Amino acid sequence: MIKTRQDLSHVQRAIVKIGSSLLTDADTGIRMDMVEHVVEQVFSLQKAGVQVCIVSSGAVAIGRVHLGWLGKTLSVHEKQAAAAVGQSWLMESYGKAFAKHDIQVAQMLLTKDDLRHRRRYLNASNTSETLFSAGVVPIVNENDTVVVEEIKFGDNDNLGALVAMMVNADLFVMVTDVDGLYDANPNEQQDAKRCSVIHHLDDSVMAMAGGSDSEFGTGGMLSKLTAVEIATRGGVAAAIVNGQQRGVLTDLFVGNDVGTLFVCGEDRHNRHQHWIADVLHVAGQLHVDAGAAQVIIHKGASLLPIGMTDVQGNFDKGECVEVVADGVVIARGLCNYNSDDLRRVQGLSSQDMAKTLGYKDFTSVIHRDNLVLKGKR
Ligand code: GLU
Repeated sequence: MIKTRQDLSHVQRAIVKIGSSLLTDADTGIRMDMVEHVVEQVFSLQKAGVQVCIVSSGAVAIGRVHLGWLGKTLSVHEKQAAAAVGQSWLMESYGKAFAKHDIQVAQMLLTKDDLRHRRRYLNASNTSETLFSAGVVPIVNENDTVVVEEIKFGDNDNLGALVAMMVNADLFVMVTDVDGLYDANPNEQQDAKRCSVIHHLDDSVMAMAGGSDSEFGTGGMLSKLTAVEIATRGGVAAAIVNGQQRGVLTDLFVGNDVGTLFVCGEDRHNRHQHWIADVLHVAGQLHVDAGAAQVIIHKGASLLPIGMTDVQGNFDKGECVEVVADGVVIARGLCNYNSDDLRRVQGLSSQDMAKTLGYKDFTSVIHRDNLVLKGKR
């Protein structure tokens, strides 16, 4: 696990997220010089044995230019159309730049919803593993044509953090147009200092991001810190660097003091628990009695059918549900049975569950290994 800058020279797999402001320009759409700069550095990282996946924004901004929609306020559908146009230019540019180094690229368009659903998540994860082993650089962007709320600036930070966990990366780097996180607004205070390494993402650190209108947060510092929080809780270190600085990525990966590095705390969730607690889509609720709540909270017990008093929602086996006691969510977990079966067995002993269902794959409704208490989040 990454604890110091020196540990960065041992990174084996990294996500490099590039922001729109860095990659695009109002005259030409894509800034080919910037793409080439990033690609050269990724190439040298690959040569040094680091597997890299790029998460790239820029589709909407590039599409605007090609459609002659500059300066126009776009509706959501126009943004989606612009993204659809811009995405192909974006891929063409990365494709050309990597081809000079004989490296193939792959387009992966994902939504956060895809990552919250177990089956789609597994498919995306298997695809990226296969691409890595074939030496291909996956280039991820939000699948903007199928989402509405997500099509806004800063959302790829979040997506990048989730992808970093999905591919089991050691490091998640956000390449932006600011030098890192400052302890005060550098545009207002001359003595504002760049934070080199952050060990705990507490309230005082979050406050450094300023409000959403803060100038030095033009890279969307608040959304970056939220993404840092997701990544570090999931065991992935994060960094914010300025892509305009020559060779900043290669510098970062040899341990030089560039940007801001966020290391993971000791109290990090294991990745499986983090995924259940923070990422997976909640498909329903299981209401439990006081006795079940007691043993789940205090004894680390699994949830058994006998403790269930109500089942809400329609979900499949394996989906994530909330466990509710007395109107309060006490935990989240992965269900061993689907909602129809659970309605038939609520309140029964595990033996009677087997008789009623005619099968019993599991004694518990949620095994404790797949159960995360609310207070532990
Ligand atoms: N997916 C959007 C695009 O490619 C960008 C979202 C973001 O900037 O975070 O334009």
